[in-house]
Order: sequence, then structure tokens, then C-alpha cells
Amino acid sequence: MNDTFDLIVIGAGPGGYHAAIRAAQLGLKTACIEKRMDGKNNAVLGGTCLNVGCIPSKALLDTSHHYVHTQHELAAHGIQVSNVALDVAAMMQRKMSIVEKLTQGISGLFKANGVENLAGHGKYLGNKKVEWTPANGEGAKILTAEHIIIAGGSEPVQISVAPLNNETIVDSTGALAFAAVPKRLGVIGAGVIGLELGSVWSRLGAQTTILEAQDVFLPLTDETISREALRTFKKQGLDIIFGARVTGCETAQQQVMVRYEKNGEAQTLTVDKLIVAVGRRPATQTLLAPGSGVNLDERGFIHVDAQCKTSNPNVYAIGDIVRGPMLAHKAMEEGVMVAELIAGHKKTTMNYEVIPAVVYTHPEVAWVGMSEQEAKARGENYKVGSFSFAANGRAMAAQENMGTVKIIAHQETDRILGVHIFGPQASEIIMQAVIALEFGASVEDLQLIIFAHPGLSEVLHEAALAVDNKAIHMAPRKRK
Ligand code: FAD
Ligand code: NAD
Repeated sequence: MNDTFDLIVIGAGPGGYHAAIRAAQLGLKTACIEKRMDGKNNAVLGGTCLNVGCIPSKALLDTSHHYVHTQHELAAHGIQVSNVALDVAAMMQRKMSIVEKLTQGISGLFKANGVENLAGHGKYLGNKKVEWTPANGEGAKILTAEHIIIAGGSEPVQISVAPLNNETIVDSTGALAFAAVPKRLGVIGAGVIGLELGSVWSRLGAQTTILEAQDVFLPLTDETISREALRTFKKQGLDIIFGARVTGCETAQQQVMVRYEKNGEAQTLTVDKLIVAVGRRPATQTLLAPGSGVNLDERGFIHVDAQCKTSNPNVYAIGDIVRGPMLAHKAMEEGVMVAELIAGHKKTTMNYEVIPAVVYTHPEVAWVGMSEQEAKARGENYKVGSFSFAANGRAMAAQENMGTVKIIAHQETDRILGVHIFGPQASEIIMQAVIALEFGASVEDLQLIIFAHPGLSEVLHEAALAVDNKAIHMAPRKRK
């Protein structure tokens, strides 16, 4: 193997593999180093997202949806089923086979594009040099490249009051691989992971309690939307305790007693499994040699500018290891942007203001742009309009008529500032809002577009009409 490249990418998660493939498409001689391994010392590509994040969690979410639907919702359609039973091993096997297909697909794409796939550990030494320690036990090699992209991703934050034992106290990776449905499940953190995995196991039958340190729920989501989501999740059986400060855990006889304080009073919660989901941190520990010339910021992320350039002119960093939301699609777009910059394209920056966020519960929460509380805090002169899925024919036909679309727009220019949704297929509907925001659309633009009937997206249309108090399927607000 030649040891000189145009580009070496460290990490083959969504950020790294997008960068490597795009760079190879553009004619750069590219290698990608990945340390996640299968049993035969082959690199397993796709990072957190494909292996222990986005994809396996959605595979389980879908199973949990079918389970609840079959047990409780088919009867209303006149479909009688009995003896519904869950085979957890089969559910996990399905999840694994989806993950394997996708990760092997990335290996195939690397081969097809001529990306050199290097299994092992990568470390940036500085001076255009990368140390690669192969997975097969051979000694470390020094590789050289004109450009380096660091895409090492993130890892779960651990807290000393709930130390992981990978049996009863686990992180998100452990929670994607339980061998049976826990009877009682505890989760620390009501963020995205806590809600997604908490609701998966809750829907499969676990009595689930989430302990959240803060008093606010989904703080980046519009308050109208997060309030409705919270009400629904509680009705579905998720017990979320806010203002809970965990002080310690005791493990005995396959159960965990969690000690926490609420309003100054000591409380306990006893569960069979405890998931710690209190955030993720950048995985920079073994990536950079002293003197690499790559600086970290005050929170431990690799410091980059708007084009993902680090303090070392030949080195870029992308994805979870740098500032911004820890989202796969954000990492992917940064990867493509940087590969194109390195290849000499003129694309300048990404639009960080228009990145969709989705919480994959059922129904889903999704948003892009400003919430009403953010518009208020920024001093914007704004107007809002909301419409409920309860008045939408398609949602009713599907028995999914729960939730709301809310639009926040500028009072004078009519420009859409944000769209926040709780409801069926919110993750798909939000993309219409993303396109509208990217194109600088006004509320009037959305009002004038013809939406297919019957469709869930009509709720977005009616919310746009509601901004000007002219929604058809809703009583008008009192005019001043
Ligand atoms: P990663 O995916 O973490 O990849 C980094 C890669 O670098 C890893 O494969 C790692 O092994 C490798 N690496 C690190 N250091 C080295 C080294 N020194 N040498 C060689 N290789 C190295 N995001 C969404 O947008 N949608 C979702 O639905 C979603 N669901 C999630 C569910 C869960 C349970 C979790 C945990 C995360 C989820 N995320 C989701 C977040 C998403 O997974 C991350 O934002 C995304 O994976 C970040 O991509 P990345 O390329 O920056 O890093
Ligand atoms: P998060 O930041 O979304 O939520 C963590 C929650 O834990 C917060 O509400 C926080 O207040 C709470 N918390 C922190 N310390 C606590 C403590 N000691 N006791 C009780 N509560 C505490 O983090 P996460 O849920 O771990 O997710 C990590 C990242 O993964 C997120 O940034 C997210 O972007 C990404 N992710 C995205 C998706 C998605 O896009 N659908 C899904 C899963 C994960």
C-alpha cells in the first residue's frame, strides 16, 4: 500500500464516510481510517449512527409501533387479533440485519469509489502526518496527506452517580440490546435519547420512569408543541419527573435503586434496568498528538470556523466532534462541504440556521428554525398560526389525529422564521418547511401552494392560512 494520499479521513461515521466518498468522486486519492471492527479485523463503517444510533433505534421504534398498533389499535378497524406476543430475539435479529446491510453497503461504496479502507486507530501527529495502527496487530505506520479531516464523532457522557456496569446500568448502546423487556425501566435524562429509547421500551411493556434534572421539556422546541408532546407521552405511560437530581445508585440482585432529590427531598426509584442518557461529548481523547496544531474549544470540541477549518491550515474537523447540533445529517453535509472545499470548489458555508431536528417518538416531534419563545427573546416582530391534526381527514382516516403544526413568521415581511410540529410523520412534513425556509418563502407562498387532498401535509397548509386567520377547517379567532 502506498502511504501518501491527497486526503486522509479519520472516522467513518456519517461525517467521515460522506467526506471520503465525495472526495474520491472529485478525484482525490483518499483513505479513511476506522477503528470499529468486526471479528475479522475488518473496519465496520457508518459510525455511531448506523451501528448504535439512528438506524438501530429506529428499527426498534418501528417494532414497538407495530406491537402497540396490533395490540390496541387494530380493533377499531374491525380487525381482531389475539395472542399477540413479542419475540425480543427476533426483534434484535431484524435490527442487526438492517445495520449489517447498511454498514456493508458503505464498504461497497468505498470500494466502488476507490476509497482506501484502513481498519485501525488513527491519530493526527501534525505536519501532514497521520499515525495508523492497523487492527491486525501490525505495528503503527506513518501516512502522509496534503489534507486531513477529523471525524471522530462523540461518545456518551458518563456520570459518577450512575456508573455504567453494562448489565443493569447502561448507556444508549446497551439500551439497544436488552435481551428481554425490563419490567421496570429507569432513564436519566429526558433528552432525545431518553425519549426515543424510553418510549421504545415503554411501548414494549416496560413501566418507564424518566428522571430529568431540568424543569423544562425539549427546550429547543416551541412551547405549544412541547407541552402537547409531553401531555401525550405521559398519557402513553411515560412517567417523566422534572427537577430530579440523581445523587447515587445501588445495585443488588439484578436491580438498581436510584437515589435522587426533588424539591430538596430525598426520593428513590427501583428499576430492573437504568439507561443513562445525559448527553454526548466529543471523542477527542486519542485522536490528536501533542503538538498537532489542532486546538480544542473551551468545551472540548475541536475548534473550527464556519467552513470546518481547524487552527491547523491542512486540517478540517466535522460532525459531532465540532460545535453545532449532534445530528447525522449535519455531519454528512459538513463532510460534503469540506471535501468540495479541499477539491477547490467555491461552496462557502452551510446554512446552520436551517437544520431540521426530529425526535422519533410516536407521534414525532420535528422543527426547523425559530420557536415562538426564541422569536420573542430575539425581539422579532412576529406572528403565529397553528393547526391541529385533529381536523385533518387523512390523519383521522389513519387514526393518527393527534398533534399540531405551528408556524412562526415575521410580522412585516411575512417571511417564515420557523415551523414546529408534533404529529404523525412530522419527520417527513418538516422537510417541506425546510425547503420553504431555504428558499426564503413567505407564509403567503405556503398559502398559495395547492396541497394534495387528503394528506397530512394539509395541516401545514392550514397552519399557514391560520397565520392570517383564514384557515378553512377551524373557527376564526375573534378579529380585533
Ligand atoms: P460518529 O458517527 O460518532 O462516527 C465517528 C467514527 O469515528 C466512529 O465510527 C468511530 O469509531 C471513529 N473513530 C473515532 N476515533 C477514531 C480514531 N482515533 N481512529 C479511527 N476511527 C476513529 N442523529 C440524527 O441525525 N438522527 C437520529 O435519528 C439519531 N439517532 C441517534 C440515536 C442514538 C441512540 C444515538 C447515540 C445517536 C443518534 N443520532 C442521531 C446522532 C448521530 O448518531 C450522530 O450525530 C452522528 O453519528 C455523528 O456522526 P459523526 O460522523 O460525526 O460521528
Ligand atoms: P440531550 O442533550 O438531548 O439530553 C440530555 C438530557 O439529560 C437533558 O434534558 C439534560 O437536562 C438531562 N441531564 C443531564 N444531566 C442530567 C443528570 N445528571 N440527571 C438528570 N438529567 C440530566 O442528550 P442525549 O439524549 O443523550 O442525546 C445526545 C445527542 O444525540 C443529542 O445531542 C442528539 O442531538 C443526538 N441524538 C439525536 C437523535 C435524533 O436526531 N433523533 C436521537 C438520539 C440522539
